[in-house]
Amino acid sequence: MSGPVIVGGGPAGSAAAITLARAGRAVTLIERDAGPADKVCGDFLGGDAIQAISALGVDVAALSPSPISAVRLVHGSLMASAPLPFAALGLTRRALDAALLNAARRSGATVVRGHRVRGIRRDGESLRLDCASLGPIAARTVFLASGKHDLRGAPRPKVGNGLVGMKMYFALEAPQQAALRDHVELILFSGGYAGLQLVESDQAVLCVLAPASRVRAASANWPRLLDSLMEECRHLADRLAGARPLRERPVAVARLPYGYMHAPASQDWPGLFRLGDQASVIGSFAGDGVALALGSATLASRFWLAEGNVSGAYHRAWRRRVASQIRLSSFINHACLCASAQPWVLRLCRLCPGLVQLAAARTRMRVTPV
Ligand SMILES: Cc1cc2nc3c(=O)[nH]c(=O)nc-3n(C[C@H](O)[C@H](O)[C@H](O)COP(=O)(O)OP(=O)(O)OC[C@H]3O[C@@H](n4cnc5c(N)ncnc54)[C@H](O)[C@@H]3O)c2cc1C
Repeated sequence: MSGPVIVGGGPAGSAAAITLARAGRAVTLIERDAGPADKVCGDFLGGDAIQAISALGVDVAALSPSPISAVRLVHGSLMASAPLPFAALGLTRRALDAALLNAARRSGATVVRGHRVRGIRRDGESLRLDCASLGPIAARTVFLASGKHDLRGAPRPKVGNGLVGMKMYFALEAPQQAALRDHVELILFSGGYAGLQLVESDQAVLCVLAPASRVRAASANWPRLLDSLMEECRHLADRLAGARPLRERPVAVARLPYGYMHAPASQDWPGLFRLGDQASVIGSFAGDGVALALGSATLASRFWLAEGNVSGAYHRAWRRRVASQIRLSSFINHACLCASAQPWVLRLCRLCPGLVQLAAARTRMRVTPV
């Protein structure tokens, strides 16, 4: 192909497609899902993500997201609340990703859906993508935005934290819906947490991060796992009393490499730019992965537009930009998931709600001019 190829049509891939197409470049994006799909994500958008989405030409308000102005942290009978230091939104990834892909098309990018790229290899001066349904594709530049899924030939180091992420939508009973409105709730349980908030159409999204051992103990059976969580967390049981699941089964993802940051090496291909979760993975407790995906894609696109195939320079600049945010998020993630630390986290946050605000502010992406 004459222009760059983007693998993956999540926030990172779409943001790159929009930025490159707006600069007048011929760009092709390949997405494996044939149509809109649910993703394992808490559907929380902080101020930095909202700003970046708007800058890419998506009218977020037109998607009818649910406003979020405060956070409630819950552990057993302890609860701490604080206003967020920015206006946040609850918006399904199904709606967000579709809107971003539409914006990419409108900007002039070619979007090809329903084709999975299986692998990538170097072929002389270009890169060759292996895609069974489209045939082999040669490109001088590839933006790899396949999220947590690695392509054969471009693996990330095998890191994982023994956690499983799962997500389900519910219609809550009216009083519970009213009590949840305007809040994101982070409900801690032994070794994990559940995030609960409203999204568009007043659906409630429950995103659970649980130790794999706990999922195995429930025989990987979602209703059984949910029962065990509700037994442990009275607050969650109250919220879900009488709730109606809105999907047949949850979406799930395992082996989450929280804290990962791509370290550029001399043997890296200069034409292969890693974006989003392929470049860095922030702890999900911070709820800022989408902002980072958009930020990395914009930065990589600008590097390529200005200097061509200089992925090493981009990867180094990206690491510098997000290293402290990712380290702080990993620390907070760890403290909130550690059973012995959880009661202390709650007591501290009750004593000093300003700490919650500080943590929320410091785990947002630092926006710096390129
Ligand atoms: C439990 C959990 C909760 C989270 N909660 C939040 C939150 O509330 N807010 C937030 O901002 N972030 C959250 N995150 C992080 C966020 O989901 C990710 O950081 C973000 O989705 C990364 O975007 P991406 O574009 O890099 O990847 P993705 O969103 O994963 O997109 C990758 C795309 O590539 C496609 N793809 C994959 N492989 C191929 C292939 N071989 N060929 C073609 N296409 C392919 C996929 O179908 C997908 O569309 C959470 C993460 C987890 C695990």
